[in-house]
Order: sequence, then C-alpha cells, then structure tokens
Amino acid sequence: MLNALRRLFSKQLPVFDESWRPFLEKNFVHWDTLTPAEVTRMEMLVARLFHETRWEPANGFDLTLDIKVLISAQAAMLLLGLELDEFPQLTSVIVYPSTIRLGSEYSVGGRVRADKTPPLAGQAHYRGPVVLSWTAARRGAKHPEAGQNVVYHEFAHRLDMLDGVTDGTPPLGDEEARKRWVRVCTAAYDSVRAEHSAVLRPYAGTNPAEFFAVATEVFFNRPVALREHEPELYEELRSFYNQDPAHRPQSHGGV
Ligand SMILES: [Zn+2]
Repeated sequence: MLNALRRLFSKQLPVFDESWRPFLEKNFVHWDTLTPAEVTRMEMLVARLFHETRWEPANGFDLTLDIKVLISAQAAMLLLGLELDEFPQLTSVIVYPSTIRLGSEYSVGGRVRADKTPPLAGQAHYRGPVVLSWTAARRGAKHPEAGQNVVYHEFAHRLDMLDGVTDGTPPLGDEEARKRWVRVCTAAYDSVRAEHSAVLRPYAGTNPAEFFAVATEVFFNRPVALREHEPELYEELRSFYNQDPAHRPQSHGGV
C-alpha cells in the first residue's frame, strides 16, 4: 500500500529491470511462448508484483531477487488476460526454502497456529498472505509436464477469493456465465471424485476451491491435454482467464 501511494505521488511506474528478461527466458518455461504484446504486459505485471509485494522469508531463508522475480512472473501469468493488475488484499508472500511445516512459531492474522499440519508446497489465506515453497515454485517454473505449479495454484485461490467466498467460482461476467461455470465445473468435479481423471489429479476432488486451483495449474501447464479430455472445462477457463494457452507454442513436455 505504501509503495502504491509513493508511486501515485511520484507518478513513477515500477520498473522492469532489463536483466530479468534473459533470466525469465531461461528459468520460466512459459515466457518464450508469449507474443510480444503479452510480454509487454507481463513485464509491467512482473514489475508491479515484484515491487509492490511485501516479501517475507521464512526460517531465515535468503530470499534473493531472482526468487522474487520468478515467483512474480508465475503469478503474473494468471493476470495476463484479466482487467486486474494486482492481487487485491494480498498482505505478503512468505517463502520457505523447501516444504512448509507450520508449527507454533507461525501466526496468521495475529492468531498463533499451534497445530501440526502435514508438509505443504503452499497455502493461500483469505485477506492474508500467500505462503510458498521455493523448491516447488522453482520446479513449477521449469517443468510444466507434470501439470503442477504451486504459484498458479495458490494465486488461483486468491482470484477465487475476490468475491469474498472461496468456493471455486471466481467473479464472472454475469449470472448466465456463472450458471454455465457452475454446471461445467460441477460435472468435471463429480467425475474427478467418482473416477480417475485423465488430466486432473485426485486432489482436485478435495472440494470445489481445490478443483479450481488444480484445474488452473493444468490449464496453463497441459492445455492441449485439458482441451482434449475436458473441452467444456477448458472453454470455461479460457473464457475466464481470457487466454488460450493450447494455441501457444507448447513448451517442452507441456502438452
Ligand atoms: Zn489449494
């Protein structure tokens, strides 16, 4: 917020550092699949997310510039086609070196979480932080073939939360679009729960919110497979994200 205010008063846009481009070309597999116009918007989004996010290293982790740039770029992919340049109400991004174990030293919204939870790759809190494992975020940036990406997953939750409810339905254009979304996603969700899906991992059957987050990962990472096996779901995501990743050049293993 402070950074945003400073920018408003100084009328300066956050700067995308030129040195980030070759770094992203090398380390973020989807960067090379974008059109020049998309790259221009991505650079603006990456700069904003990089400069305006409050970054918090967990456990004394050395949270380097490269790490922030790579996480910002992956989060920016979700905003690329939206009329949204930031993730509202994101208080901070907390980065752990590897898996996340929430112990008694961790607090959310002032409340100390003393419960022991299984190791996680990420978490998204409503009106709070996004918590990420750097190991998982780095792997996701380079290896789309498995379909998983913790940054896409957690920031998809943030988009889902925009209407105040984490229910797998982000804000949509109108009531008709919402009804169609619910019909298509409910059918795909039920089939994930009932049987093995060819493209969506079983975790998608946990609840509708996880379904949307997992479907988002697959939409960007294995778009051709998703379009083939779940054409209606692909179309809903294409319409929501206003992107058509199946039509992009497929990065290695990304089909
Ligand atoms: Zn999730």
